[in-house]
Amino acid sequence: MARSYVAEARRRGLGTRRERIRPIVERLAEEHADAEIALRFRTDLELLVSVMLSAQTTDANVNRVTPALFAKYRRPEDYLAVPQEELERDIYATGFFRQKARSIRGSMRVLLEEFDGKVPRRLDELTRLPGVARKTANVVAAELGDAQGIVVDTHVRRLSQRLGLSRHEDPVKIERDLQRVVPRPDWARFPHLLIWHGRRVCDARRPRCEECVLAGLCPSSRA
Ligand code: SF4
Repeated sequence: MARSYVAEARRRGLGTRRERIRPIVERLAEEHADAEIALRFRTDLELLVSVMLSAQTTDANVNRVTPALFAKYRRPEDYLAVPQEELERDIYATGFFRQKARSIRGSMRVLLEEFDGKVPRRLDELTRLPGVARKTANVVAAELGDAQGIVVDTHVRRLSQRLGLSRHEDPVKIERDLQRVVPRPDWARFPHLLIWHGRRVCDARRPRCEECVLAGLCPSSRA
């Protein structure tokens, strides 16, 4: 299915990926000027912990837990000063709490041992933290102002395919395709734009093509 959208763009004479990407970004940026990360945090450390907690749950769910959590745990040392079970209780509502507590405490240890207690910015450094895979590292680096990749979540994957920007299913391959066409200065905001567009307009089951600003650029448009 995804494969046909790349060919379909050609068939409909919509232009190449490179030709379409700039108007796609511009129209989305105008439509979703408020698109930004939904997690709430004030410091680099809070950002890292929020993103780690957001695995397999909603951002809203994480935001319900973190005000009390961040009031209690302010420094990496604070996460190690309590028994693991106490941290598990404090993050219980985000699900997978045992695994997340283990990863967070492991990451705090590495932050203290290798990074002077500070959150690093490089992807290769971030992925040295236990439980921090490429997607988490990408989100953190982008929010810290140094995007080195493009976050691919379920919305980004679906929209990249529908827009004929990638024919792949594998997030790593989709990211590679996007990196080839999306201008580097847009790497941080591009996923937010797709995520918000995916939530508001290009629904997984019922895309609202008739009210979509991308209809004239999209090979899957039914409008
Ligand atoms: S035209 Fe339709 S399929 Fe294409 S991005 Fe818009 S809503 Fe999604």
